[in-house]
Amino acid sequence: MEETEAQALERRRMVDSQLRSRDIMDRRVLAAMGQVPRHRFVRPVDQPQAYADAPLPIGHRQTISQPYIVALMTQLVEARPEDTVLEIGTGSGYQAAVLAALARRVISVERIPELAAQARRILAELGIMNVEIIEGDGTRGHAAEAPYAGIVVTAGAPRLPVALRDQLADGGRLVLPVGSRDGQMLERWTRRGGEVHRERIAPVAFVPLIGDQGWSEEAAGREGWSFGG
Ligand code: SAM
Repeated sequence: MEETEAQALERRRMVDSQLRSRDIMDRRVLAAMGQVPRHRFVRPVDQPQAYADAPLPIGHRQTISQPYIVALMTQLVEARPEDTVLEIGTGSGYQAAVLAALARRVISVERIPELAAQARRILAELGIMNVEIIEGDGTRGHAAEAPYAGIVVTAGAPRLPVALRDQLADGGRLVLPVGSRDGQMLERWTRRGGEVHRERIAPVAFVPLIGDQGWSEEAAGREGWSFGG
């Protein structure tokens, strides 16, 4: 499916007006954001808004994150061409596709089977071969291929899941939103030997991370969640 000239133009504008004009400086991240067709990861009805400065619904009460937040998290994780990066919360598959343009391999875990299947299909259609999508509870990470040079969590956690901290390589970077149901702080944790160092980056509003080391389904289902992503 070829993209239209208008879609390509909107994507270039998105990179200039939403990313370059803010604090996205990493040339590799800007190039990846300029290359991955976000419109392919949203519902057909939302395609006219695919390059807007906003999250969009993807069904199952989940969202594809705002392009700026995807770029910011990608910049913070500093994926290098030789790295394997773990993503928790595949959703549409868009963040995984952006990471796949920068890293050797991306493993992405999604708890909703329908979203995992849909993301697999879109990535295959786009010929993106270095992403593996796994169904399950990502709060436990994916021990089989740990440790990871980078971990990105794209749902809001009540606290740093210990399994993810333990699966971070020495020098590795873990980027995740941590906080309450009303809002979170985007944090970057970096491992230096036995120590992990935390930086607080910016306030954000993500859908809940539901699982063993996240929120319970019950708590997440309560009224009052902002489904921002
Ligand atoms: N990265 C996604 C994208 O590019 O479209 C956006 C992710 S959306 C904001 C959050 C996703 O996290 C949802 O698809 C949700 O089902 C998933 N999620 C929540 N808790 C999870 C868990 N414990 N393990 C795996 N996925 C989880």
